[in-house]
Amino acid sequence: MKVNLLDFDLQGLTRLCEQWGEKPFRATQLFRWIHQKGAINFAEMSDLAKTLRLQLEQHCELVALPVVSEHRSTDGTIKWLFDVGAGNAVETVFIPEDDRGTLCVSSQAGCAVGCRFCSTGHQGFSRNLTTGEMVFQLWFAEHFLRREHQTSGASPERVITNVVMMGMGEPLQNYDVLLPALRVMLSDHAYGLSRRRVTVSTSGVVPMIDRLAQDCPVALAVSLHAPNDALRDTLVPLNRKYPIAELMQACLRYLEPAPRDFVTFEYCMLDGVNDQPEHAGQLIELIRHQGQHLGTRWCKLNLIPFNPFPESGLLRSPKAQVQLFSQQLLDAGVVTTIRKTRGDDIDAACGQLAGEVQDRTGVQQRREQRIESQVHWAPKPVYVDESH
Ligand code: SAH
Ligand code: SF4
Repeated sequence: MKVNLLDFDLQGLTRLCEQWGEKPFRATQLFRWIHQKGAINFAEMSDLAKTLRLQLEQHCELVALPVVSEHRSTDGTIKWLFDVGAGNAVETVFIPEDDRGTLCVSSQAGCAVGCRFCSTGHQGFSRNLTTGEMVFQLWFAEHFLRREHQTSGASPERVITNVVMMGMGEPLQNYDVLLPALRVMLSDHAYGLSRRRVTVSTSGVVPMIDRLAQDCPVALAVSLHAPNDALRDTLVPLNRKYPIAELMQACLRYLEPAPRDFVTFEYCMLDGVNDQPEHAGQLIELIRHQGQHLGTRWCKLNLIPFNPFPESGLLRSPKAQVQLFSQQLLDAGVVTTIRKTRGDDIDAACGQLAGEVQDRTGVQQRREQRIESQVHWAPKPVYVDESH
């Protein structure tokens, strides 16, 4: 069986080439051909020796995921749906802005955490993606968009400046596979993104936050959604395993090597559930208490307008409520932003893929039977994180 070259970071590729008696710089050349130039066949890798190209032809391939669909929003947002086999698909979303281009990448088909407000969670877990499948999302988007820019006469420079692991799945429950993918994103011989421009978003897998701090300290976003354990237990089931105080301490440990960095807390605003003044008060207290001498300056809060979907039985907080909540936090010195929506017209929100991926577990169906349909179907916009 051929190996997928997209599965390797530079270290892995170097080891592979060494097995064929090739010098490490050959691996670097190959790595650059793949990621920087977007080469798809070995014949075009002109500065590699013919013998090496032959080895590559025989033993290696670049595995592309079939594109199921591409949707473009009038605001420039593009959502791709990729087929990952066995009836599963994952989404990747490109969000262009004046000063950056952000790619939202998926880490799993489905998700096992099962958050109440998340359509991916309602679908259940299908499987982990491979490193190659995560890297492919970036490889594809970067080279596809670069070619598009070239044909339109725009500069052929790098299009994607930021990556957020906020698509389908819980990246820290697929850690060993995620790590080489992050290293490819950061490598100067591949995408060259700085560690502050790559964000891992997690629902709070505490031991893996510590490992990420050691292995690859990129920007950390934590999906908090509630200021106390009783409520968070009902929204993010993983909280029963890793309660808020433990999670907060892991975040603070994450910042120890670089105290001027910050953790972003994501907080999805759910009408009447977690959006009341008492919740904001508890949140302020929590941040101050846990942060101790750091006060409120160790984190940022990102308020996310909820994208309703029928099975959730939840509603989006009214705009005025979000504003009030935000003001209360700002007044207490907590840096708070409200996410703006993007791609309304193409049904593209990170982590939102209701109805398009097969429900492998029947979870969705069972929940539908239990929850009365009180929610109006609304398009699911994608959000731009303004904090990075
Ligand atoms: N599993 C990781 C990353 C993927 S989810 C995590 O939970 O952080 C990415 C973001 O989308 C999370 O902050 C999640 O809370 C948010 N999200 C999920 N469902 C949502 C919904 N229906 N409306 C708005 N945001 C949602
Ligand atoms: Fe999984 Fe994140 Fe959705 Fe929770 S919010 S179910 S962790 S993808």
